[in-house]
Amino acid sequence: MPRYIFVTGGVVSSLGKGLTAAAIGLLLERHGLRVRMQKFDPYINLDPGTMNPSQHGEVYVTEDGAETDLDLGHYERFTNGMVNRDSNYTTGKIYNSVISKEREGQYLGSTVQVVPHITDEIKSCIERVASEDVDIVISEIGGTVGDIESLPFLEAIRQFGLEKGRDKVMYIHLTLLPYLSASGEVKTKPTQHSVGRLREIGILPDMLICRTEKSISPELRRKIALFCNVPVNAVIEEKDVDYSIYELPVMLKREQVDALVLKHFGIKYSEADLSEWIVMLESLRTPKLETEIAIVGKYIELTDAYKSIYESLTHAGIAHQARVKFRKIQAQDIEREGPERLLAGSKGILVPGGFGDRGIEGKIEAIRYARELRVPFFGICLGMQCACVEFARNVLGMEAAHSTEFAPQTKYPVISLLGEQLGVLKKGGTMRLGAYPCRIVSGTRAAEAYAQGFVQERHRHRYEFNNEFRGAFERGGMKFCGNSPDGSLVEMVELPGHPWFVGCQFHPEFKSKPVHPHPLFREFVRASLAHL
Ligand code: GLN
Repeated sequence: MPRYIFVTGGVVSSLGKGLTAAAIGLLLERHGLRVRMQKFDPYINLDPGTMNPSQHGEVYVTEDGAETDLDLGHYERFTNGMVNRDSNYTTGKIYNSVISKEREGQYLGSTVQVVPHITDEIKSCIERVASEDVDIVISEIGGTVGDIESLPFLEAIRQFGLEKGRDKVMYIHLTLLPYLSASGEVKTKPTQHSVGRLREIGILPDMLICRTEKSISPELRRKIALFCNVPVNAVIEEKDVDYSIYELPVMLKREQVDALVLKHFGIKYSEADLSEWIVMLESLRTPKLETEIAIVGKYIELTDAYKSIYESLTHAGIAHQARVKFRKIQAQDIEREGPERLLAGSKGILVPGGFGDRGIEGKIEAIRYARELRVPFFGICLGMQCACVEFARNVLGMEAAHSTEFAPQTKYPVISLLGEQLGVLKKGGTMRLGAYPCRIVSGTRAAEAYAQGFVQERHRHRYEFNNEFRGAFERGGMKFCGNSPDGSLVEMVELPGHPWFVGCQFHPEFKSKPVHPHPLFREFVRASLAHL
């Protein structure tokens, strides 16, 4: 019989609810429990796939090809529980399903309403992840308590607690304690108001996790407990981390969050085994080496647009006891200034995925710089496509070669749409999405990294390498080191004579974890450490 934890947020957005939920998931897993994580997002888009990165940050792709919220990335980096298309529901997805059922006549003539039809749909989405092999479901409710948008979700989880029994359901509320430097005080009033809103809806939180810059005194804890109607030991301090988000589980354990959860559910307490995690943290805290990677992209000013890439580089650093510094470079700046000054001294160059032609020539120039000056290079998705364009233009002499995404009439369409994408007009969920197999060619850098001949990696793109150009590329010295099992799709390219020049059509960053860095990132960072 699964137990359910609901994580809500109050006072302000961007408190790190997803990270906190993921850290709790990790702690419970280390007690031997089987955890499944889920996120509800109160916006009307069916998924974030069609949203601009400036609105939403990175779109995280699951193994089964769902385009989801980036919090699912935190879930997968912290826990081992599976995430899939049932792990992320938006208001749009919920309504879409209710409206389809209405059209099919499934409501038998009744008036379809927010309560009970939308709330029932939300509850069934929670049940959907609670399969037999799951002990704890953690559902994060996006948005902030008090928003109009999140009301149906809060109503649904209130009903859920009543129906399942309060010993099977736990409500955790994450809130902010602002520090006013003028008076030197940590303030509790916004938290009191936020909990007040929850209680009006009928949700009595069992635990308050308080985000704070400063430590909170026992006196303040008692005050929060009294005004918010929670036991004093369930007022948890979550201070800003010192050096990494990966400290969070250890911090929450110190506050006995795991013990409180187990007690609430009547599960016998045994010590959580965090040893592997602590070894990882030690390498992160006291690195022995350092390297600097230039990331050349279009959304470089946004912290969340390339979230999983930054995380994966950090994980790779952990494997080598090295600190990986990021030099974030706007691709358009390279178009204006040339690559020399902006890239000088960087020990590796990474061009991430992307859409649209802004900055594309800057990315191609950065790749040329990496190839000619033998700087380790890693191209991901659009980054690989740009590497092929650069190679065609500057090595094979195919002037103005391009991807048909940017130059539909190019004489040398080295990247183009393949059959299945040709007739696609709708934008949402129509790309090549999710995990596909890839066969690795032996004796290559790719094979050296993966140490296996067959891998599964996640995709999110429409365009592919155009096979008409295979022969010319091979004769020119590019190696197709990873291909779809039937050989029809190029999945990876590399330049054999170069210290490390690898491109992949898929997104390896979605499969890296701090304790299991992705092999391609690990080898890229290794090459960058060797670069003088
Ligand atoms: N825009 C390219 C395509 O659709 C690359 C996509 C990506 O980098 N995710 O193929």
